[in-house]
Amino acid sequence: MTPRPAGRLTLETPVTYLTGVGPRRAELLKRLNIFTARDLLWHIPHRYEDATTVRRIATLRVGEDATVIGTVVSTGILPTRKGLRVFQAVVRDASGLMEVAWPGQPWLERQIAKEDVLLLSGPVRFFHGRQLTPREFVNLGKDADGTSGGRVLAVYGATEGLSVKVLRGLVEAHLDALLPLVEEYLPTSMLAAAGVPTLPEALAAVHRPTSVAAALAGRSRLAFEELLCVHLLHRRAHALAQQAQDGIRFTNRRDLTTRFRAALPFALTGAQTRSVREIVADMTGPCRMHRLLQGDVGAGKTVVAVFAALVAMENGYQVAFMAPTELLAEQHARTITTLLAPLGIVPVLVTGSLGAAARRAAAATLAGETPCLAVGTHALVQERVRFGRLGLAIIDEQHRFGVDQRRAMGEHRTEGRRPDVLLMSATPIPRSLALTVYGDLDVSLLDERPPGRLPVTTALRPESARARVLGFVRRQVEAGRQAYVVYPLVEDSEKVALKAATTAFEELSSGPLAGLRLALLHGKLSSEEKDAVMRRFRDGAIEVLVATTVIEVGIDVANATVMLIEHPERFGLSQLHQLRGRVGRGAAESFCILLGDVGPEAAERLQVIVDHEDGFEVARADLALRGMGDLFGERQSGVPTFRIADPLKDEALSDRAREAAERLLADDPALTRPPHRRLGEVLRRNYGRALELFRVG
Ligand code: ADP
Ligand code: MG
Repeated sequence: MTPRPAGRLTLETPVTYLTGVGPRRAELLKRLNIFTARDLLWHIPHRYEDATTVRRIATLRVGEDATVIGTVVSTGILPTRKGLRVFQAVVRDASGLMEVAWPGQPWLERQIAKEDVLLLSGPVRFFHGRQLTPREFVNLGKDADGTSGGRVLAVYGATEGLSVKVLRGLVEAHLDALLPLVEEYLPTSMLAAAGVPTLPEALAAVHRPTSVAAALAGRSRLAFEELLCVHLLHRRAHALAQQAQDGIRFTNRRDLTTRFRAALPFALTGAQTRSVREIVADMTGPCRMHRLLQGDVGAGKTVVAVFAALVAMENGYQVAFMAPTELLAEQHARTITTLLAPLGIVPVLVTGSLGAAARRAAAATLAGETPCLAVGTHALVQERVRFGRLGLAIIDEQHRFGVDQRRAMGEHRTEGRRPDVLLMSATPIPRSLALTVYGDLDVSLLDERPPGRLPVTTALRPESARARVLGFVRRQVEAGRQAYVVYPLVEDSEKVALKAATTAFEELSSGPLAGLRLALLHGKLSSEEKDAVMRRFRDGAIEVLVATTVIEVGIDVANATVMLIEHPERFGLSQLHQLRGRVGRGAAESFCILLGDVGPEAAERLQVIVDHEDGFEVARADLALRGMGDLFGERQSGVPTFRIADPLKDEALSDRAREAAERLLADDPALTRPPHRRLGEVLRRNYGRALELFRVG
């Protein structure tokens, strides 16, 4: 056993000095990021089980998903015909016996013994009687009282070699010594306003809950603190940016913008007008604009962005409009060319696939001082591209760029001033979540669709309906419409997806869609080839476009009325919603058909798309199902991560935390007054960049 340190126990005491932790266990604890007594205390259960969720074995029915507590009567390992070894246990509670099976986990023989009390949850299946196959289980040990009701069980995140039971024991053994070391440092009035308990109460409640409700109240105090810290950082960053006043002060000359508005073939929606006004207010102010324009697919973000671009240009500045793919950049360039034709302004396209001559010409234009609108991909932020006078950076589908790329765009300087930044996103998220995730941004919302759009009818159809679905596609095309057939990327491999799409293309052309004009669009085609295919589709020369997801954001064809999606279960909900946004752009009724036999879980998920046309609803469901990481992409991050709080589920709590942060900073902007110093320390300890934002003096 490791010798105890000379000093007394503090929260910073390494876990190795705690009774019950030897070198081996300390190593295992490291895997859970537990290094000190504090880390152990802050290792919060991720779930609770109580008598209200535990079922009596005798009442279980096949097909249910259930949690039971039972004592192990016998164990054994069964080989199956496929060579898989199944660990099995028979468990008993006061009401009866049941079999539990863990396929492919024979090693559990070393972890589960006769007389152990297990808490098990998972689906109940039929296999020579009822059999439970646990998704999760907790070994409560031999002396556990499996029969007592009313008991709340904390379930901790564990790791191999360190069971939930050991962790629970470890926390329990040190809780009484550690809790008195914890002091509340948030003002009492703040806690009261937020409706959360004090820190020591909260930690006691999460580890030693008297009820699930008490545990969750304790958890809310810890989540509140996390959210408070993030909002403090956001608000502080925002305040400092305001103070810096290093933005360009544009003048609203109403020269180009007025002519543009007059030449538009439609009137702006209320939401577009409001967003333009918000953007112009930012641009004409002394601070840099840092605004996110959120709007569902088809909400009309491009037009709003063009207004911003024109304000910059009529002030003599250049504008960079960056999109995540070549296809999208080209599409934007085309759309903007049409929109700006009445003003005689032609955008400059900058993509990686420009020829040498075109690239040199573009580079020369950008390096000069003449106002221009450059539309391109990340090629816009590459070394050799220099702007003579960049005043505004517009970044479409901003979450698809890395933090560095977004930052690089805003780093250009003109006479010491940095460009305004307008970010755009077609994955709209609820306002309060946006404030948590993008807290240092201002947000404009396009929550109104341009008039005259018909809803898109969406349906999930099984494989058995394939012939009927393709017959429907055929009739639509024969009636003069066009259709998309989309295949997913398989394991992110364009090659495999291409194979699937190619095979399908051949089958469709020679089978159910024979005689129609089909074309195949995929990522392996050169930019010119893609462009050619798309142009022919746009002009109606192609009737059915068979594609891998390269069309996700690329195409705007009003005559297309059918979006047929193969293997819909392989797409994220937001992606499906984006695809659906490719149809319903004209006056005719449109359809989005998800085709394939999918499992019950996938069917439930896909039902969200079938039931909801609104991108907000879809994004919300996607968030709830897949979490933030997936929705916002892996690599980009820059989005704060939370250990305890869940910005979506804790939306109301997050609102309260933001209010608290605003009040606090209004009172003590750098958190230097004595009652707030501890909070400043916590920020510095947990969030590196807080050092900069809350530097004293
Ligand atoms: P987003 O980028 O938000 O998905 P777009 O900017 O591509 O949407 O706009 C979708 C379509 O709606 C475009 O064809 C555009 O010209 C059209 N549009 C935009 N605003 C309006 C409006 N106020 N009224 C009618 N049509 C509009
Ligand atoms: Mg767009």
